[in-house]
Amino acid sequence: MDEIKHECGLFGVYGSLDATEKVYQGLYSLQHRGEESAGIASTDGSSIVWHKGMGLVGNVFKPRDLRRLRNSAAIGHVRYSTIGRSEWQNAQPLVAEYSRGQVAVAHNGQLVNTSSLRRDLERGGAVFQTQTTRHNHTPSDSEVILHLMAKPEYRENLSGLLRDLKGAFSLLILTPEEMIAARDPNGFRPLCIGKLKDGYAVASESCALDQIRAEYLREVSPGEIVYIGKNGLRSETFAPAKPSYCIFELIYFSRPDSMIYGENVHLIRKRLGAKLAEECPVEADMVIPVPEGGNSAAMGYSQASGIPLERGFVRNHYIGRTFIQPDVEQRQQKAEMKLNAISDVVTGKRVVVVDDSIVRGTTSKSRFGLLKRAGAKEIHVRISCPPHRYPCYYGIDFQIKEELIAAVRPLEEITEFLEVDSLGYLSIEGLLSCTSSPKDYCVACFAGKYPVQAEIVKKAREGAEEWEEKAGEHTIVV
Ligand code: SF4
Repeated sequence: MDEIKHECGLFGVYGSLDATEKVYQGLYSLQHRGEESAGIASTDGSSIVWHKGMGLVGNVFKPRDLRRLRNSAAIGHVRYSTIGRSEWQNAQPLVAEYSRGQVAVAHNGQLVNTSSLRRDLERGGAVFQTQTTRHNHTPSDSEVILHLMAKPEYRENLSGLLRDLKGAFSLLILTPEEMIAARDPNGFRPLCIGKLKDGYAVASESCALDQIRAEYLREVSPGEIVYIGKNGLRSETFAPAKPSYCIFELIYFSRPDSMIYGENVHLIRKRLGAKLAEECPVEADMVIPVPEGGNSAAMGYSQASGIPLERGFVRNHYIGRTFIQPDVEQRQQKAEMKLNAISDVVTGKRVVVVDDSIVRGTTSKSRFGLLKRAGAKEIHVRISCPPHRYPCYYGIDFQIKEELIAAVRPLEEITEFLEVDSLGYLSIEGLLSCTSSPKDYCVACFAGKYPVQAEIVKKAREGAEEWEEKAGEHTIVV
């Protein structure tokens, strides 16, 4: 895997005496979704208390913090700074007080109309606390949502508020009375509900529900709001569902033991690997995964091709996930420390090395170089997703097209750059054919067809805010 940045993970529990401890455990299971900051807000039914900080879940919370937060309803968040800066103010949940009392908000995704919403709010006197983005002066999406909640027209109208948000959002909101979960009509980011003996849990991924022994119930549907309070669970549809699930969650982001969009992640990755073997066959002595991302797809490739699976890399587990490091140099250094090749296994062998993606190419190159230095005779790279040629505007940090190696170089040049013998990617059709509902997926970063206002977003990110004015009038498909 190359150096893509993730965004966020959400976890909430309502109605359990040790809700805070359960959220803490759940956040541990979602740590792969963001390593930069973590936070928990909880309530005893009258007020909200919170704690957040920079770093891993295990570093942010001390026993005394958890004791102070101990309550029967809590929401938590782990974060990578997709658009906001990596600073404490941007750690979530964000907690605020308005005319209806206290509220905490945690968000996973990326809105595409933050600039215009902010402008309207500032005209109305709002002052923003969170940091600006790298691309323009946009506050965090969560803060925009908090300010909108305080507007008179939205105070009793969460559905109306959510209809005015454009882009990707899976949300958890906590008030002293209830916990609210919501997902944008496209359902870009996952969000699922679990049942506990004494309450409910909501999580970005089902692996976090397993962690606290919650029974998986279902996903929050695209366009749905779920209110969880003293009287149980109540659902409302705020907009018709138009599913464009992020297929990259299945390929790379989510944990293999999670159920996402109704698919088990490990099994679908195995199918991708099998399809890859069908589309890009090669004669070789062994199939080697790039751990951990390539593990399941390599298994599928090996089973479908009949080429034995081998372990060619050893991973240093004490190095964090490279792509989550915000600084390019830090990422590169860590990428090189993270893996080593087993030379006794690969020396003199023709190796098929399976990975989940190549985005910018630099990390991949150093990894395949390890095999060469270890003595592999031939290196055939197989990637279990199509080439990334277009930016993502829905919460994943590849927003600059020129940084994507497949956007600027043809296959032959990439092969040359990686210094390998051959390179094969899974096709878009092949990828979609491995899912049970191919038409329900976003493949914009491969195909360039954006479900929501892509061109406008791009211009807005460059600071040309007038483009965003047009967001209400057009949906541009590029
Ligand atoms: S553009 Fe790619 S990464 Fe972004 S939401 Fe769509 S499939 Fe996911």
